[in-house]
Order: sequence, then C-alpha cells, then structure tokens
Amino acid sequence: MTDRNWTEAVLAALAKAHPDAKPELDFSNPFELLIATMLSAQCTDKQVNRVTPALFRDHPNAASVAAMTEDELIGYIRPCGFFNTKAKHILSACRDIVDRFGGEVPSGREELQSLAGVGRKTANVVLSNAFGTPAIAVDTHVFRVSNRIGLASASTVEKTEQQLMENIPEDKWSIAHHWLIFHGRRVCSSQRPKCANCTLKGLCKYYSENKRD
Ligand code: SF4
Repeated sequence: MTDRNWTEAVLAALAKAHPDAKPELDFSNPFELLIATMLSAQCTDKQVNRVTPALFRDHPNAASVAAMTEDELIGYIRPCGFFNTKAKHILSACRDIVDRFGGEVPSGREELQSLAGVGRKTANVVLSNAFGTPAIAVDTHVFRVSNRIGLASASTVEKTEQQLMENIPEDKWSIAHHWLIFHGRRVCSSQRPKCANCTLKGLCKYYSENKRD
C-alpha cells in the first residue's frame, strides 16, 4: 500500500491538472459505449468518434447490428483498423446480446466478459462509464503513468489494476482512470515525459529517481 497522504496528494494534483478529464469516446448508452470501446483497440478515440455516428444512426441497437453481414459492418468500421477481427467480434457479441441478454448489454462483469472480444479492460470501461460501477481500466497510459508516479509498482496490467484498487479509494477509481489517461496523453508521454512542466514532479517516483529535467 502507498502512504495515504501521498496518495491523496497525487490524486489532488491529477485532479487539478486535468479538471476536464472524462471519457473521450462519444456514446449515449451502454450499447454504443461497448461497440465504441471494441473499435478503439489499436485506434484513436477521435477516429472511432468519426466512424460511430453513421453506424449508430443506421444500426442503433444490438439486434440491428447482429442482422448485418460482416461486409456490411466492415463498410462502417474499416477506418478503425483490424476491421476483420473487430467485425467478427462485434457481430458475435451483438448476437449473444440478443440471444442471451434480451437485446440489452449486460451490466455484470462476468456476463460482459463472456461476449466475444470483450476482455477485462473493455468490461471495466463499460462498467464504470455506462453503468456507474467503480472500476479501473488499465490501458497503456494508465499502466505507464501509474507505475511511473508510484501509484502502482507492477510489471503486468493485472497487478497494476489490483494495486490501483488497493491504493485509490473506490469512489475515485473511475475518475482516476481518466486523470491518468489525460496525464499520459498530455504530459507523461511514453518516450518523452514532460517532467520539467509536470505539476506532479515533487511527488513522482520516476522523477525522483531520474530527474529528467
Ligand atoms: S514527473 Fe515526469 S514521469 Fe513523473 S508524472 Fe510527471 S511527466 Fe510523468
């Protein structure tokens, strides 16, 4: 466990640095968020947001998507990359949602993860952002930034998520996920973290060990 006062100071600094942190995928219901999140693998949120309006306008629910052919779906999602695999997973997941869950995206972790192409990270995104269930989705930004700062000290995504859940109060799990993503995108980049301009440098383990500026 990290020191409670230090953790509170880190979370307060992140909150101050990124008061606008929020989900960057556009969605208006759990179905749209699930599909957008599946499309966002290896693709930017901006690109997904360019693709989904036409898809959701023409196919606003799981039953409608499930009725498409693979080629029809690929016609909408091609710009997101890996479209063959994504189309297969989305069609399979939507058919399962229709057949097993009455057409509604399930709100339980096990049920979500039973859908094709839905791993723990995607389930966490849907649970926290669409259903308000506390969860921390560990993507590449969350993994890198939390381990640099010292909120986690782990070599795997699974252990990082576990440590973040131990160190961060549950009511802050979802927003902390967004803070860490925003910090990773804007300040603590993979190759060249902007430590000199970072408001967390007085708290950051990586900075104290490397003093990059
Ligand atoms: S001080 Fe540097 S390594 Fe630490 S969070 Fe800021 S940018 Fe990242």
